[in-house]
Amino acid sequence: MADVQAFTMDAGLGDVAIHGLDATRLFGSGDGLTYSDFLILPGFIDFTPDDVCLETQLTRKIKLRTPLVSSPMDTVTEGEMAIAMALCGGIGIIHNNCSVDFQAGEVMKVKKYKHGFIRDPIVLSPKHVVKDVFGIKSRHGFAGIPITDNGQLGGKLLGMVTSRDIDFLSPTSQPLSEIMTPFSELITAVSGVALDAAYELLERSKKGKLPIIDQNNCLVALIARTDLKKSRNFPLASKDANDQLLVGASISTRDADKVRLEALVKAGVDVIILDSSQGNSSFQLEMIKYIKAKYPELQLICGNIVTAAQAKNLIEAGADALRVGMGSGSICITQEVMAVGRPQATAVYRVAEYARQFGIPVIADGGIQCVGHITKALSLGASTVMMGSLLAGTTEAPGEYFFSNGVRLKKYRGMGSLEAMTRDDHGSDGGCGPMERYFHKYVSSIIYTFLCFEVFYISRDSDQVKIAQGVSGNIVDKGSVLRFIPYLIRGLQHGCQDIGARSLMKLRQMMYSGQLKFERRSLASQVEGGVHGLHSYEKRLF
Ligand code: GDP
Ligand code: 5GP
Repeated sequence: MADVQAFTMDAGLGDVAIHGLDATRLFGSGDGLTYSDFLILPGFIDFTPDDVCLETQLTRKIKLRTPLVSSPMDTVTEGEMAIAMALCGGIGIIHNNCSVDFQAGEVMKVKKYKHGFIRDPIVLSPKHVVKDVFGIKSRHGFAGIPITDNGQLGGKLLGMVTSRDIDFLSPTSQPLSEIMTPFSELITAVSGVALDAAYELLERSKKGKLPIIDQNNCLVALIARTDLKKSRNFPLASKDANDQLLVGASISTRDADKVRLEALVKAGVDVIILDSSQGNSSFQLEMIKYIKAKYPELQLICGNIVTAAQAKNLIEAGADALRVGMGSGSICITQEVMAVGRPQATAVYRVAEYARQFGIPVIADGGIQCVGHITKALSLGASTVMMGSLLAGTTEAPGEYFFSNGVRLKKYRGMGSLEAMTRDDHGSDGGCGPMERYFHKYVSSIIYTFLCFEVFYISRDSDQVKIAQGVSGNIVDKGSVLRFIPYLIRGLQHGCQDIGARSLMKLRQMMYSGQLKFERRSLASQVEGGVHGLHSYEKRLF
Protein backbone atom coordinates (compact mmCIF):
# COMPACT_ATOMS: atom_id res chain seq x y z
CA MET A 1 0.00 0.00 0.00
CA ALA A 2 2.75 2.41 1.07
CA ASP A 3 4.72 1.63 -2.10
CA VAL A 4 1.71 2.25 -4.29
CA GLN A 5 1.13 5.59 -2.59
CA ALA A 6 4.75 6.69 -2.91
CA PHE A 7 4.75 5.68 -6.55
CA THR A 8 1.51 7.55 -7.19
CA MET A 9 2.93 10.67 -5.58
CA ASP A 10 6.00 10.50 -7.82
CA ALA A 11 3.85 9.83 -10.86
CA GLY A 12 1.61 12.78 -10.02
CA LEU A 13 4.60 15.09 -10.05
CA GLY A 14 5.56 14.31 -13.62
CA ASP A 15 9.06 15.60 -14.48
CA VAL A 16 9.75 16.62 -10.89
CA ALA A 17 9.98 12.94 -9.99
CA ILE A 18 13.09 12.41 -12.07
CA HIS A 19 15.16 14.95 -10.18
CA GLY A 20 18.19 13.51 -8.43
CA LEU A 21 20.40 10.69 -9.65
CA ASP A 22 19.82 7.00 -9.28
CA ALA A 23 22.82 5.03 -8.01
CA THR A 24 23.95 4.00 -11.52
CA ARG A 25 24.20 7.64 -12.56
CA LEU A 26 25.66 8.79 -9.23
CA PHE A 27 28.59 6.43 -9.65
CA GLY A 28 28.61 6.54 -13.45
CA SER A 29 30.94 9.53 -13.73
CA GLY A 30 34.04 7.46 -12.89
CA ASP A 31 35.05 9.69 -9.96
CA GLY A 32 35.49 7.90 -6.66
CA LEU A 33 32.97 9.16 -4.10
CA THR A 34 32.70 8.90 -0.38
CA TYR A 35 29.88 9.41 2.09
CA SER A 36 30.20 13.19 2.40
CA ASP A 37 30.06 13.66 -1.39
CA PHE A 38 26.33 12.97 -1.69
CA LEU A 39 22.98 13.08 0.05
CA ILE A 40 19.88 10.94 -0.29
CA LEU A 41 16.72 12.75 -1.39
CA PRO A 42 13.75 12.32 0.96
CA GLY A 43 10.82 10.01 0.08
CA PHE A 44 7.30 9.61 1.39
CA ILE A 45 6.56 8.87 5.08
CA ASP A 46 3.55 6.83 6.18
CA PHE A 47 5.06 4.94 9.12
CA THR A 48 6.92 5.66 12.35
CA PRO A 49 10.63 5.05 13.07
CA ASP A 50 9.56 2.16 15.31
CA ASP A 51 8.15 0.40 12.25
CA VAL A 52 11.53 0.34 10.50
CA CYS A 53 12.93 -3.20 10.51
CA LEU A 54 16.73 -3.28 10.63
CA GLU A 55 17.09 -7.04 10.18
CA THR A 56 19.90 -7.92 7.83
CA GLN A 57 22.35 -10.65 6.79
CA LEU A 58 25.85 -10.56 8.24
CA THR A 59 26.85 -13.57 6.17
CA ARG A 60 25.09 -16.03 3.92
CA LYS A 61 23.70 -17.84 7.01
CA ILE A 62 23.88 -15.40 9.94
CA LYS A 63 21.09 -12.89 10.36
CA LEU A 64 21.32 -9.90 12.73
CA ARG A 65 18.57 -7.64 14.06
CA THR A 66 20.76 -4.54 13.68
CA PRO A 67 23.40 -3.99 10.99
CA LEU A 68 26.23 -3.04 13.35
CA VAL A 69 29.60 -4.76 13.66
CA SER A 70 32.58 -3.79 15.83
CA SER A 71 35.98 -3.98 14.20
CA PRO A 72 38.64 -6.57 15.12
CA MET A 73 41.05 -3.98 16.51
CA ASP A 74 42.89 -4.22 19.82
CA THR A 75 41.50 -0.87 20.97
CA VAL A 76 37.93 -1.77 19.95
CA THR A 77 36.83 -5.38 20.38
CA GLU A 78 37.52 -7.89 23.13
CA GLY A 79 34.94 -9.86 25.13
CA GLU A 80 33.22 -6.93 26.84
CA MET A 81 32.59 -5.05 23.59
CA ALA A 82 31.47 -8.24 21.83
CA ILE A 83 28.94 -8.96 24.60
CA ALA A 84 27.53 -5.42 24.41
CA MET A 85 27.35 -5.46 20.59
CA ALA A 86 25.53 -8.81 20.57
CA LEU A 87 23.11 -7.71 23.33
CA CYS A 88 22.18 -4.72 21.14
CA GLY A 89 21.52 -6.90 18.09
CA GLY A 90 24.86 -6.51 16.31
CA ILE A 91 28.07 -8.51 16.64
CA GLY A 92 31.64 -7.97 17.82
CA ILE A 93 34.71 -9.45 16.15
CA ILE A 94 37.48 -10.24 18.65
CA HIS A 95 40.88 -9.05 17.38
CA ASN A 96 43.88 -11.34 16.93
CA ASN A 97 46.67 -9.04 18.14
CA CYS A 98 47.08 -11.35 21.14
CA SER A 99 47.93 -14.92 22.04
CA VAL A 100 45.71 -17.76 20.84
CA ASP A 101 44.67 -18.52 24.44
CA PHE A 102 43.70 -14.94 25.15
CA GLN A 103 41.59 -14.63 21.99
CA ALA A 104 39.87 -18.00 22.50
CA GLY A 105 39.22 -17.02 26.15
CA GLU A 106 37.50 -13.78 25.03
CA VAL A 107 35.32 -15.75 22.60
CA MET A 108 34.41 -18.14 25.41
CA LYS A 109 33.49 -15.19 27.68
CA VAL A 110 30.90 -14.10 25.12
CA LYS A 111 29.54 -17.60 24.58
CA LYS A 112 29.33 -18.19 28.37
CA TYR A 113 27.71 -14.82 29.08
CA LYS A 114 24.24 -16.26 28.68
CA HIS A 115 22.68 -19.52 27.67
CA GLY A 116 19.43 -21.22 27.05
CA PHE A 117 20.53 -24.63 28.25
CA ILE A 118 23.97 -24.61 29.89
CA ARG A 119 25.15 -27.89 28.41
CA ASP A 120 28.59 -27.81 30.01
CA PRO A 121 27.92 -26.50 33.51
CA ILE A 122 30.63 -26.59 36.14
CA VAL A 123 29.78 -29.50 38.44
CA LEU A 124 31.26 -30.63 41.79
CA SER A 125 30.92 -33.72 43.99
CA PRO A 126 29.75 -33.87 47.65
CA LYS A 127 33.39 -34.35 48.65
CA HIS A 128 34.44 -30.99 47.24
CA VAL A 129 34.67 -28.25 49.83
CA VAL A 130 33.32 -24.73 50.35
CA LYS A 131 36.69 -23.30 49.27
CA ASP A 132 36.20 -24.85 45.80
CA VAL A 133 32.93 -22.96 45.31
CA PHE A 134 34.61 -19.68 46.31
CA GLY A 135 37.33 -20.44 43.73
CA ILE A 136 34.73 -20.96 40.98
CA LYS A 137 32.88 -17.81 42.01
CA SER A 138 36.03 -15.69 41.73
CA ARG A 139 37.15 -17.29 38.43
CA HIS A 140 33.78 -17.46 36.62
CA GLY A 141 31.50 -15.09 38.50
CA PHE A 142 28.78 -17.60 39.47
CA ALA A 143 28.23 -19.94 42.39
CA GLY A 144 25.24 -22.04 41.29
CA ILE A 145 26.85 -25.49 41.18
CA PRO A 146 25.04 -28.81 40.68
CA ILE A 147 26.44 -31.62 42.86
CA THR A 148 26.61 -35.10 41.32
CA ASP A 149 27.94 -38.38 42.72
CA ASN A 150 31.05 -38.30 40.52
CA GLY A 151 31.41 -34.52 40.34
CA GLN A 152 30.73 -34.53 36.60
CA LEU A 153 28.00 -33.80 34.10
CA GLY A 154 26.19 -37.11 33.50
CA GLY A 155 26.60 -38.20 37.15
CA LYS A 156 23.60 -38.76 39.46
CA LEU A 157 22.28 -35.44 40.74
CA LEU A 158 22.57 -35.30 44.55
CA GLY A 159 21.93 -31.60 45.22
CA MET A 160 22.79 -27.97 44.39
CA VAL A 161 25.00 -25.35 45.99
CA THR A 162 23.97 -21.75 45.30
CA SER A 163 25.17 -18.29 46.32
CA ARG A 164 22.70 -18.36 49.19
CA ASP A 165 24.32 -21.52 50.63
CA ILE A 166 27.71 -19.83 50.89
CA ASP A 167 26.65 -16.22 51.58
CA PHE A 168 27.62 -16.34 55.26
CA LEU A 169 30.45 -18.86 55.02
CA SER A 170 34.17 -18.35 54.65
CA PRO A 171 36.29 -20.41 52.24
CA THR A 172 36.82 -23.44 54.50
CA SER A 173 37.34 -27.16 53.94
CA GLN A 174 33.80 -28.03 54.97
CA PRO A 175 32.47 -30.66 52.52
CA LEU A 176 29.64 -29.59 50.21
CA SER A 177 27.54 -32.60 51.34
CA GLU A 178 26.95 -30.65 54.58
CA ILE A 179 25.73 -27.41 53.01
CA MET A 180 24.09 -28.37 49.72
CA THR A 181 20.35 -28.30 49.11
CA PRO A 182 19.55 -32.02 48.75
CA PHE A 183 17.98 -33.55 45.64
CA SER A 184 14.64 -34.09 47.41
CA GLU A 185 14.20 -30.30 47.79
CA LEU A 186 15.19 -29.36 44.25
CA ILE A 187 12.88 -28.41 41.42
CA THR A 188 14.12 -30.19 38.30
CA ALA A 189 12.93 -30.71 34.72
CA VAL A 190 13.30 -33.77 32.54
CA SER A 191 15.53 -33.77 29.49
CA GLY A 192 13.60 -32.87 26.35
CA VAL A 193 11.73 -30.00 28.02
CA ALA A 194 11.37 -26.93 25.77
CA LEU A 195 13.24 -23.78 26.82
CA ASP A 196 10.02 -21.76 27.20
CA ALA A 197 8.45 -24.42 29.45
CA ALA A 198 11.64 -24.60 31.53
CA TYR A 199 11.71 -20.81 31.96
CA GLU A 200 8.06 -20.88 33.00
CA LEU A 201 8.88 -23.50 35.64
CA LEU A 202 11.76 -21.33 36.91
CA GLU A 203 9.48 -18.30 37.12
CA ARG A 204 6.78 -20.19 39.01
CA SER A 205 9.18 -21.90 41.40
CA LYS A 206 11.08 -18.64 42.07
CA LYS A 207 14.32 -20.66 42.04
CA GLY A 208 17.56 -19.36 40.59
CA LYS A 209 18.61 -22.56 38.80
CA LEU A 210 16.82 -25.44 37.13
CA PRO A 211 18.83 -28.66 36.73
CA ILE A 212 17.74 -30.81 33.78
CA ILE A 213 17.98 -34.56 34.41
CA ASP A 214 17.28 -37.80 32.53
CA GLN A 215 15.05 -40.70 33.68
CA ASN A 216 17.85 -41.99 35.95
CA ASN A 217 18.21 -38.62 37.69
CA CYS A 218 21.53 -38.01 35.95
CA LEU A 219 22.43 -34.38 35.21
CA VAL A 220 22.09 -33.36 31.56
CA ALA A 221 22.11 -29.54 31.66
CA LEU A 222 21.33 -26.48 33.77
CA ILE A 223 19.18 -23.38 33.27
CA ALA A 224 19.79 -20.05 35.06
CA ARG A 225 17.07 -17.57 35.98
CA THR A 226 19.39 -14.62 35.23
CA ASP A 227 19.46 -15.74 31.60
CA LEU A 228 15.72 -15.29 31.40
CA LYS A 229 16.16 -11.73 32.70
CA LYS A 230 18.99 -11.06 30.24
CA SER A 231 16.74 -12.20 27.37
CA ARG A 232 13.95 -9.86 28.47
CA ASN A 233 16.22 -6.82 28.92
CA PHE A 234 17.76 -7.18 25.48
CA PRO A 235 15.06 -8.31 23.07
CA LEU A 236 17.22 -7.56 19.99
CA ALA A 237 20.16 -9.71 21.15
CA SER A 238 21.99 -11.71 18.49
CA LYS A 239 21.73 -15.33 19.61
CA ASP A 240 22.47 -18.81 18.33
CA ALA A 241 20.08 -21.76 18.54
CA ASN A 242 20.91 -22.24 22.25
CA ASP A 243 20.29 -18.59 23.15
CA GLN A 244 24.05 -17.92 23.48
CA LEU A 245 25.34 -14.62 22.11
CA LEU A 246 26.89 -14.57 18.65
CA VAL A 247 30.55 -13.67 18.38
CA GLY A 248 33.18 -13.46 15.66
CA ALA A 249 36.98 -13.49 15.67
CA SER A 250 39.67 -12.52 13.21
CA ILE A 251 42.66 -14.56 12.09
CA SER A 252 45.43 -13.90 9.61
CA THR A 253 45.96 -15.87 6.42
CA ARG A 254 49.22 -17.40 7.63
CA ASP A 255 49.56 -21.16 8.01
CA ALA A 256 50.44 -20.74 11.69
CA ASP A 257 46.95 -19.36 12.34
CA LYS A 258 45.37 -22.75 11.62
CA VAL A 259 46.14 -23.47 15.30
CA ARG A 260 44.37 -20.23 16.28
CA LEU A 261 41.40 -21.20 14.14
CA GLU A 262 41.08 -24.57 15.86
CA ALA A 263 41.12 -22.96 19.32
CA LEU A 264 38.48 -20.41 18.25
CA VAL A 265 36.22 -23.11 16.84
CA LYS A 266 36.57 -25.08 20.11
CA ALA A 267 35.64 -21.93 22.04
CA GLY A 268 32.41 -21.73 20.03
CA VAL A 269 33.09 -18.87 17.59
CA ASP A 270 30.24 -18.28 15.12
CA VAL A 271 32.05 -16.45 12.37
CA ILE A 272 35.66 -15.94 11.31
CA ILE A 273 37.08 -12.90 9.55
CA LEU A 274 40.17 -13.37 7.43
CA ASP A 275 41.97 -10.17 8.32
CA SER A 276 43.92 -8.83 5.41
CA SER A 277 44.31 -5.27 4.14
CA GLN A 278 44.35 -6.51 0.52
CA GLY A 279 42.35 -9.71 0.50
CA ASN A 280 42.80 -10.70 -3.12
CA SER A 281 45.83 -12.90 -2.54
CA SER A 282 46.82 -16.52 -3.01
CA PHE A 283 47.30 -16.70 0.79
CA GLN A 284 43.67 -15.83 1.41
CA LEU A 285 42.32 -18.09 -1.32
CA GLU A 286 44.25 -21.04 0.12
CA MET A 287 43.04 -20.28 3.65
CA ILE A 288 39.41 -20.05 2.48
CA LYS A 289 39.69 -23.45 0.80
CA TYR A 290 41.31 -24.96 3.91
CA ILE A 291 38.62 -23.59 6.24
CA LYS A 292 35.74 -24.58 4.00
CA ALA A 293 37.08 -28.14 3.72
CA LYS A 294 37.76 -28.49 7.47
CA TYR A 295 34.78 -26.58 8.93
CA PRO A 296 32.11 -26.47 6.21
CA GLU A 297 29.52 -25.01 8.60
CA LEU A 298 31.70 -22.15 9.88
CA GLN A 299 30.75 -18.78 8.39
CA LEU A 300 33.66 -16.96 6.79
CA ILE A 301 34.00 -13.24 6.07
CA CYS A 302 36.73 -12.46 3.55
CA GLY A 303 38.48 -9.28 2.50
CA ASN A 304 39.34 -6.52 2.58
CA ILE A 305 38.51 -5.64 -0.98
CA VAL A 306 37.20 -2.68 -2.97
CA THR A 307 36.61 -3.96 -6.52
CA ALA A 308 34.32 -6.49 -8.20
CA ALA A 309 37.37 -8.29 -9.65
CA GLN A 310 38.70 -8.93 -6.14
CA ALA A 311 35.22 -10.01 -5.00
CA LYS A 312 34.99 -12.56 -7.82
CA ASN A 313 38.02 -14.50 -6.57
CA LEU A 314 36.87 -14.55 -2.94
CA ILE A 315 33.31 -15.54 -3.80
CA GLU A 316 34.52 -18.36 -6.06
CA ALA A 317 36.77 -19.63 -3.28
CA GLY A 318 33.81 -19.83 -0.86
CA ALA A 319 33.41 -16.50 1.01
CA ASP A 320 30.15 -16.17 3.00
CA ALA A 321 30.44 -12.37 3.19
CA LEU A 322 32.82 -9.67 1.98
CA ARG A 323 34.46 -6.92 4.01
CA VAL A 324 34.85 -3.79 1.92
CA GLY A 325 37.24 -0.90 2.53
CA MET A 326 40.82 -0.03 1.77
CA GLY A 327 42.32 3.07 3.26
CA SER A 328 39.05 4.68 4.32
CA GLY A 329 39.44 4.06 8.06
CA SER A 330 39.98 7.03 10.38
CA ILE A 331 43.43 5.76 11.44
CA CYS A 332 44.51 4.60 7.96
CA ILE A 333 47.41 5.91 5.93
CA THR A 334 47.26 3.14 3.31
CA GLN A 335 46.13 5.41 0.46
CA GLU A 336 48.88 7.85 1.29
CA VAL A 337 51.65 5.26 1.63
CA MET A 338 50.64 2.57 -0.87
CA ALA A 339 48.87 4.81 -3.39
CA VAL A 340 46.23 2.08 -3.54
CA GLY A 341 42.66 1.99 -2.29
CA ARG A 342 39.26 3.38 -3.25
CA PRO A 343 36.89 6.02 -1.90
CA GLN A 344 34.52 4.15 0.37
CA ALA A 345 31.08 4.95 -1.11
CA THR A 346 32.20 3.84 -4.58
CA ALA A 347 33.88 0.71 -3.16
CA VAL A 348 30.75 -0.31 -1.24
CA TYR A 349 28.42 0.32 -4.18
CA ARG A 350 30.56 -1.49 -6.75
CA VAL A 351 31.31 -4.58 -4.64
CA ALA A 352 27.74 -4.90 -3.30
CA GLU A 353 26.31 -4.57 -6.81
CA TYR A 354 28.51 -7.47 -7.95
CA ALA A 355 28.16 -9.68 -4.85
CA ARG A 356 24.37 -9.54 -4.70
CA GLN A 357 24.16 -11.73 -7.83
CA PHE A 358 25.58 -14.52 -5.66
CA GLY A 359 23.62 -13.68 -2.49
CA ILE A 360 26.80 -12.60 -0.67
CA PRO A 361 26.34 -9.78 1.87
CA VAL A 362 28.79 -6.90 2.07
CA ILE A 363 30.17 -5.22 5.20
CA ALA A 364 31.04 -1.53 4.73
CA ASP A 365 34.23 -1.29 6.79
CA GLY A 366 35.85 1.98 7.78
CA GLY A 367 35.10 5.67 7.40
CA ILE A 368 31.82 5.62 9.36
CA GLN A 369 32.00 8.89 11.27
CA CYS A 370 28.36 9.42 12.22
CA VAL A 371 24.96 7.76 12.09
CA GLY A 372 24.20 9.37 8.68
CA HIS A 373 27.16 7.49 7.20
CA ILE A 374 25.60 4.22 8.35
CA THR A 375 22.38 5.06 6.51
CA LYS A 376 24.37 6.02 3.42
CA ALA A 377 26.49 2.83 3.44
CA LEU A 378 23.36 0.68 3.72
CA SER A 379 21.62 2.68 0.99
CA LEU A 380 24.50 1.78 -1.35
CA GLY A 381 23.94 -1.96 -0.94
CA ALA A 382 25.96 -2.85 2.18
CA SER A 383 24.15 -5.24 4.54
CA THR A 384 26.10 -4.21 7.65
CA VAL A 385 28.66 -1.58 8.67
CA MET A 386 31.86 -2.15 10.62
CA MET A 387 33.02 0.54 13.01
CA GLY A 388 36.30 1.30 14.71
CA SER A 389 36.58 4.95 15.75
CA LEU A 390 32.85 5.30 16.42
CA LEU A 391 33.06 2.62 19.14
CA ALA A 392 36.57 3.35 20.42
CA GLY A 393 36.52 5.46 23.56
CA THR A 394 33.45 3.69 24.95
CA THR A 395 33.47 1.97 28.33
CA GLU A 396 33.46 -1.47 26.69
CA ALA A 397 36.47 -0.78 24.44
CA PRO A 398 39.71 -2.31 25.76
CA GLY A 399 42.12 0.00 27.58
CA GLU A 400 42.09 2.44 30.46
CA TYR A 401 40.83 6.02 30.41
CA PHE A 402 43.34 8.80 31.04
CA PHE A 403 43.15 12.58 31.19
CA SER A 404 44.87 15.04 28.86
CA ASN A 405 44.22 18.77 29.36
CA GLY A 406 41.17 17.90 31.42
CA VAL A 407 39.63 15.68 28.71
CA ARG A 408 38.92 11.99 29.45
CA LEU A 409 40.42 9.87 26.67
CA LYS A 410 41.09 6.29 25.58
CA LYS A 411 43.69 5.12 23.12
CA TYR A 412 42.63 4.24 19.55
CA ARG A 413 45.18 2.98 17.07
CA GLY A 414 45.34 1.44 13.61
CA MET A 415 46.20 -2.24 13.54
CA GLY A 416 48.83 -1.34 10.97
CA SER A 417 50.39 1.31 13.19
CA LEU A 418 53.91 0.55 14.34
CA GLU A 419 52.65 0.57 17.91
CA ALA A 420 50.07 -2.19 17.27
CA MET A 421 52.44 -4.24 15.12
CA THR A 422 55.01 -4.34 17.89
CA ARG A 423 52.58 -4.94 20.77
CA ASP A 424 54.13 -7.28 23.30
CA ASP A 425 51.45 -7.75 25.97
CA HIS A 426 48.91 -10.64 26.04
CA GLY A 427 51.82 -13.00 25.29
CA SER A 428 52.75 -14.65 22.07
CA ASP A 429 52.21 -18.32 21.43
CA GLY A 430 52.66 -18.89 17.77
CA GLY A 431 49.55 -17.21 16.34
CA CYS A 432 49.80 -14.31 13.91
CA GLY A 433 48.66 -10.73 14.45
CA PRO A 434 48.41 -7.53 12.44
CA MET A 435 52.07 -7.68 11.54
CA GLU A 436 50.91 -10.23 8.96
CA ARG A 437 47.94 -8.15 7.84
CA TYR A 438 50.02 -5.12 7.10
CA PHE A 439 53.54 -6.49 6.73
CA HIS A 440 53.65 -9.89 5.04
CA LYS A 441 52.25 -8.49 1.84
CA TYR A 442 55.17 -6.11 1.67
CA VAL A 443 57.70 -8.85 2.37
CA SER A 444 55.95 -11.14 -0.07
CA SER A 445 56.08 -8.55 -2.82
CA ILE A 446 59.80 -8.26 -2.24
CA ILE A 447 60.14 -12.05 -2.45
CA TYR A 448 58.14 -11.98 -5.65
CA THR A 449 60.23 -9.18 -7.15
CA PHE A 450 63.47 -10.89 -6.22
CA LEU A 451 62.28 -14.24 -7.52
CA CYS A 452 61.23 -12.68 -10.79
CA PHE A 453 64.61 -11.10 -11.27
CA GLU A 454 66.32 -14.22 -9.97
CA VAL A 455 68.57 -12.16 -7.75
CA PHE A 456 68.19 -13.98 -4.45
CA TYR A 457 65.56 -15.36 -2.14
CA ILE A 458 64.24 -13.80 1.03
CA SER A 459 62.05 -15.94 3.23
CA ARG A 460 58.50 -14.72 4.03
CA ASP A 461 59.61 -14.28 7.63
CA SER A 462 62.65 -12.12 6.97
CA ASP A 463 63.15 -9.10 9.13
CA GLN A 464 62.50 -6.16 6.75
CA VAL A 465 61.78 -2.48 7.16
CA LYS A 466 58.30 -2.09 8.59
CA ILE A 467 55.90 0.09 6.62
CA ALA A 468 53.17 1.54 8.84
CA GLN A 469 49.69 1.73 7.32
CA GLY A 470 48.03 3.27 10.34
CA VAL A 471 48.48 5.80 13.08
CA SER A 472 47.96 5.74 16.80
CA GLY A 473 45.91 8.36 18.66
CA ASN A 474 43.32 9.06 21.35
CA ILE A 475 39.57 9.37 21.40
CA VAL A 476 37.19 11.14 23.77
CA ASP A 477 35.17 9.14 26.31
CA LYS A 478 31.81 8.21 24.77
CA GLY A 479 30.21 6.41 27.71
CA SER A 480 28.74 2.94 27.37
CA VAL A 481 28.03 1.17 24.10
CA LEU A 482 24.78 0.05 25.72
CA ARG A 483 23.63 3.69 25.45
CA PHE A 484 25.44 4.59 22.24
CA ILE A 485 24.19 1.69 20.04
CA PRO A 486 20.50 2.44 20.79
CA TYR A 487 21.24 6.01 19.58
CA LEU A 488 22.72 4.64 16.33
CA ILE A 489 19.74 2.30 15.89
CA ARG A 490 17.26 5.10 16.43
CA GLY A 491 19.15 7.47 14.13
CA LEU A 492 19.18 4.85 11.40
CA GLN A 493 15.44 4.23 11.80
CA HIS A 494 14.80 7.98 11.46
CA GLY A 495 17.00 8.11 8.34
CA CYS A 496 15.08 5.22 6.77
CA GLN A 497 11.81 6.92 7.66
CA ASP A 498 12.86 10.13 5.88
CA ILE A 499 13.84 8.07 2.85
CA GLY A 500 10.53 6.21 2.94
CA ALA A 501 12.02 2.75 3.51
CA ARG A 502 10.32 0.55 6.10
CA SER A 503 13.18 -1.93 6.19
CA LEU A 504 16.77 -2.33 5.10
CA MET A 505 15.63 -4.82 2.51
CA LYS A 506 13.24 -2.20 1.13
CA LEU A 507 16.05 0.37 1.16
CA ARG A 508 18.18 -1.87 -1.06
CA GLN A 509 15.24 -2.63 -3.35
CA MET A 510 14.57 1.11 -3.74
CA MET A 511 18.22 1.71 -4.62
CA TYR A 512 18.51 -1.10 -7.17
CA SER A 513 15.17 -0.24 -8.79
CA GLY A 514 16.27 3.37 -9.23
CA GLN A 515 13.50 4.71 -6.97
CA LEU A 516 16.08 5.94 -4.46
CA LYS A 517 17.50 9.25 -5.61
CA PHE A 518 20.84 10.77 -4.65
CA GLU A 519 22.45 14.13 -5.29
CA ARG A 520 26.12 15.10 -5.38
CA ARG A 521 26.97 18.01 -3.12
CA SER A 522 29.52 20.73 -3.62
CA LEU A 523 32.09 21.65 -0.99
CA ALA A 524 30.02 24.75 -0.14
CA SER A 525 26.93 22.61 0.39
CA GLN A 526 28.90 20.29 2.65
CA VAL A 527 29.78 23.30 4.78
CA GLU A 528 26.12 24.34 4.73
CA GLY A 529 25.12 20.82 5.87
CA GLY A 530 27.21 21.16 9.04
CA VAL A 531 26.69 23.56 11.92
CA HIS A 532 27.78 27.03 10.77
CA GLY A 533 27.61 30.71 11.59
CA LEU A 534 27.68 30.28 15.36
CA HIS A 535 30.18 31.84 17.72
CA SER A 536 30.22 28.70 19.82
CA TYR A 537 27.99 25.70 20.41
CA GLU A 538 27.73 22.42 22.21
CA LYS A 539 27.09 19.28 20.13
CA ARG A 540 25.22 16.73 22.22
CA LEU A 541 23.93 13.84 20.13
CA PHE A 542 21.57 12.04 22.52
P1 GDP B 1 24.94 -17.57 40.39
O1 GDP B 1 23.56 -17.36 40.96
O2 GDP B 1 26.06 -17.09 41.21
O3 GDP B 1 25.15 -18.99 39.91
O4 GDP B 1 25.03 -16.71 39.06
P2 GDP B 1 23.86 -16.28 38.08
O5 GDP B 1 22.85 -17.36 37.91
O6 GDP B 1 23.37 -14.92 38.48
O7 GDP B 1 24.65 -16.12 36.73
C1 GDP B 1 25.21 -17.20 36.07
C2 GDP B 1 25.48 -16.77 34.63
O8 GDP B 1 26.64 -17.48 34.19
C3 GDP B 1 24.34 -17.15 33.71
O9 GDP B 1 24.17 -16.17 32.72
C4 GDP B 1 24.83 -18.47 33.10
O10 GDP B 1 24.34 -18.72 31.79
C5 GDP B 1 26.31 -18.26 33.07
N1 GDP B 1 27.03 -19.53 33.15
C6 GDP B 1 27.89 -19.98 32.21
N2 GDP B 1 28.38 -21.17 32.55
C7 GDP B 1 27.82 -21.52 33.74
C8 GDP B 1 27.97 -22.66 34.60
O11 GDP B 1 28.72 -23.59 34.35
N3 GDP B 1 27.24 -22.65 35.75
C9 GDP B 1 26.42 -21.60 36.10
N4 GDP B 1 25.77 -21.65 37.26
N5 GDP B 1 26.28 -20.51 35.30
C10 GDP B 1 26.97 -20.47 34.14
P1 5GP C 1 37.16 3.56 11.31
O1 5GP C 1 35.84 3.00 11.72
O2 5GP C 1 38.01 3.97 12.48
O3 5GP C 1 37.05 4.65 10.30
O4 5GP C 1 37.93 2.38 10.54
C1 5GP C 1 38.12 1.11 11.10
C2 5GP C 1 38.66 0.18 10.03
O5 5GP C 1 39.94 0.62 9.56
C3 5GP C 1 38.93 -1.23 10.53
O6 5GP C 1 37.78 -2.01 10.58
C4 5GP C 1 39.96 -1.76 9.55
O7 5GP C 1 39.38 -2.28 8.38
C5 5GP C 1 40.71 -0.52 9.16
N1 5GP C 1 42.00 -0.43 9.84
C6 5GP C 1 42.29 -0.66 11.14
N2 5GP C 1 43.58 -0.37 11.41
C7 5GP C 1 44.11 0.04 10.24
C8 5GP C 1 45.43 0.46 9.87
O8 5GP C 1 46.35 0.58 10.67
N3 5GP C 1 45.61 0.75 8.56
C9 5GP C 1 44.61 0.66 7.63
N4 5GP C 1 44.88 0.94 6.36
N5 5GP C 1 43.36 0.30 7.97
C10 5GP C 1 43.12 -0.01 9.25
